[in-house]
Amino acid sequence: MFTLSPESRLTDLLEANREWAQDMSREHPQLFPTNGRGQQPHTLLISCSDSRYNENCFGVLPGEVFTWKSIANICRPEDLATCATLEFAIDVLGVSRVVLCGHTDCGGVNSCVRGQMPQLERNCPHLAEHLNDVVETSKQYASELADARDPARLLCLRNAQKHYIDLTQNKTVSRALAEGRIQVYALLYNVDTGLVEKLASTE
Ligand code: ZN
Repeated sequence: MFTLSPESRLTDLLEANREWAQDMSREHPQLFPTNGRGQQPHTLLISCSDSRYNENCFGVLPGEVFTWKSIANICRPEDLATCATLEFAIDVLGVSRVVLCGHTDCGGVNSCVRGQMPQLERNCPHLAEHLNDVVETSKQYASELADARDPARLLCLRNAQKHYIDLTQNKTVSRALAEGRIQVYALLYNVDTGLVEKLASTE
């Protein structure tokens, strides 16, 4: 089912790329000539680095979506990469929407729910520090999570909502919102169906 595997060599990657580029050119003859003249994406997507989803879940082509992936879709408002991404996408590229899309079965979120943080702190200290943000969210919703039928899914949802709220309070985003230049959406991608559901929206 998958194109490449752990055993794939560089030649396999290059061959797979050649086939992909040929298929794309056949199906969309204007795509690469258009993209060769620059990018004008309409959407900024902030999602988890998880391999099971990306902007393709919206059926888009290369050139439509400016993407930033971070483990557990963490985009702290004070983080340099977050601020730089938002400034570039909104103020330079002029996207008209910012989509924060979390997903179900998030490994980063699962480690918090399943009590794996002490082990992570020992073996992957940077990852553990990065996930501190989700740990804080899990503490904030501790009683709701304790009662939940599926606490991992609920924390994926609360984590995405938390970052959506953080995003709307970012200076670049709030200015663009006030000027009516963008909309911001919080979505959740279901890895077992490929379907996205709405969590929150400024629209
Ligand atoms: Zn994830």
